[in-house]
Formats: sequence, C-alpha cells, structure tokens
Amino acid sequence: MNFIEEFRSSQSGRTLLEYINKRSTKPARFMEFCGGHTVAIFRYGIRQLLPPHIEMLSGPGCPVCVTSTADLDKVIALSRLPGVIICSFGDLLRVPSSRQSLLEVRAEGADVRIVYSTMDALEIARQNPLKKVIFVGIGFETTAPTIAASVIQARNQGLANYYVMSIHKITPPVMRAILDAGETRLSGIICPGHVSSITGSNAWEFIPEEYHLACAVSGFESLDILYCVKSLVDQVEDATPRLDVSYSRAVKPEGNTAALKIMDEVFDICPANWRGIGILPQSGLCLRPEFAAFDAEKNFEIKLSEPSRETPGCLCGEIIKGTRTPLECKLFSKVCTPENPVGPCMVSSEGTCAAYYHYGGKL
Ligand code: SF4
Repeated sequence: MNFIEEFRSSQSGRTLLEYINKRSTKPARFMEFCGGHTVAIFRYGIRQLLPPHIEMLSGPGCPVCVTSTADLDKVIALSRLPGVIICSFGDLLRVPSSRQSLLEVRAEGADVRIVYSTMDALEIARQNPLKKVIFVGIGFETTAPTIAASVIQARNQGLANYYVMSIHKITPPVMRAILDAGETRLSGIICPGHVSSITGSNAWEFIPEEYHLACAVSGFESLDILYCVKSLVDQVEDATPRLDVSYSRAVKPEGNTAALKIMDEVFDICPANWRGIGILPQSGLCLRPEFAAFDAEKNFEIKLSEPSRETPGCLCGEIIKGTRTPLECKLFSKVCTPENPVGPCMVSSEGTCAAYYHYGGKL
C-alpha cells in the first residue's frame, strides 16, 4: 500500500461512515473553508453519504473567487499600460472584471502571459530588460511565501523591472467575518489543509475558544475528510468544541516557520477587498516599504475609467459566504458553464460553482 492509498481505503471509509451515521443525532451545518476541500468532497461523493441532517456548505477558500472586481479592474488597467508584461496564474485570465477579462485584453494586444511559478515571471523579467514585468500575486498564505521569495530574489539580483501587484489575502480574518455575520448558523468548520501547513493549526484556535464551534483541519483524501467530519460530529454531539487536526502529516501547530519568516520579511498586513464581503482590515498582504521598488501599486499610475460593477445575476459574492448555493443562481449551467463562465466561482478549478457543475449538487 503506498502513502496515498492509505488515505483512500474503502474499508476504513465504510467504518468511518457507519460511525458518523450512528453517532450523529443533532442537525449540523459544517462549512469547508477551502475550495480544494469542496472539490474533494464532491469528487468522493461525501455529501450524499452523510446523514440528511448534516448539511455541508462551501466557504471562501478559493483565491480566484474572493478576488474583488475592483482589484481585477486595477489589473486590467495595468495590462493596458505601454511596455508592461502581465504575468499571472492561468485561472485568473478568464475571470471577468467589470468589463473584460485578462484573456480579452490579451486578444486586443496586451502582453499577458500565463506562468506556473514566480520563477517563470522572474525569467521573463530577465529576458525583457526594456519591459516592466508585473506578477499578479493572488492567493492565501500558501502562495504568499513563494511571491515573497521572488521579491527577495529580484532585489538580490538587481532586477529593476520586476513588480508584484499584491492581492494576497490571509484567511483567519475572513473566517471571523463570516462567523461574526452569523448568516450561515454553522455548527463546525473544516479548516484548510494547505493554508494550515503554513500558518499552523494554532491559527484556528479562536474558532472553538471564541465562537464555541467544532473545528478540524483536514487533508484532501477521502479518509482525511471523513475523519474530520467524524471529529466534528463528536464535538457537536458532546458539545465539546475543540481544535482537531486530521492532517498532522502536513500541519504542525506552529506552522512552517521558514515560510512565515520570509512572508514577514517582505509583507505587511493591510486591509483587503474580498468579493461579496468588502474591505476587511488586517486581511491582506502588501509589500513592506523596504520593497516599495517592487510594488506595482506604488510604481504605476492605475487609472480606472469608470467605477467597478458586478456582473448582473452572478451570486458568487453570496456563494463565497455560504449564504447561497450555485443551484440558486438562475445563470447556473444555463448561461454560466465552465466553457463560458460568468463569474469566478465557475472559472476556478476550486470554485464552488465549477464543483457543482462537474459533480452535481445536493440541495
Ligand atoms: Fe456566478 Fe456563474 Fe456561479 Fe451563477 S453559476 S454564481 S453566474 S459563477
């Protein structure tokens, strides 16, 4: 049995499901924070295997989905500047801003390139010394360390034409915002696995301590998630909320100290604009003043010709908060499909609408 198969054993899955179905008596609503978990839960059919009184909601853990239209408008404005090369991860290119996507401005002649890492963007900057290369930094704590490393590398190599447009976000503040709003009436949270491998599981201690909710950090295999649901059910049934970790092979309480150190060296905590939620204080990462030479917002004049506007009919802002599901969106699967996405939740491979589309949803 190899390392992954141990976490996909059908016999162990059946045992966990039998336990959950016997043990669970109280209605419960669990939110998986992370888009990777949403996709895994759908792929393994876990929603359909749980007792009907356990409801699973998808949360805000998809970086592409939570990027605000206003921030996307700034990226589009940057892409239109002369002598600029925009570098971005692929998903972002298809996300509509107020008027266009990056893919559309590229079709009009803008130099927009898909990269697979910041190292690709640095190489493009080296090869194009007369151009200004802007890397669009979206993502959570998981990707921020690699962006920070690229800025340090650019500084150490004297690369003067590399910039970062930092739209990075940090995750605990948005979880707090959703819990403070109280719209979802949650019983427990499946905390993100990859993010927690950087932040450490300690980052989520506030959920049981301050909100008295069940909470467990999960990996991405079927048994990781089922173990996590079992833990949440136990906590709900016993009314003993605590922080459990079903992903201890990757997550330490204190996190990845080397990654946290490099993030702290390059980034300050600042407000961030979240789709559907608005500006949350202390929920974003911006470049520290020492790295201002690499900060796209500080080195380019970003002119927006018109105010930002949301796509009519798209419920992504609500879906991110768990207050609506894709099945409540009139555009879902009729007008909005993965081939012709109207909103980011259908564009992203971790988006809730894409997961519902590919694997079917349960009302
Ligand atoms: Fe937006 Fe499309 Fe999802 Fe509707 S189905 S919420 S339009 S992404």
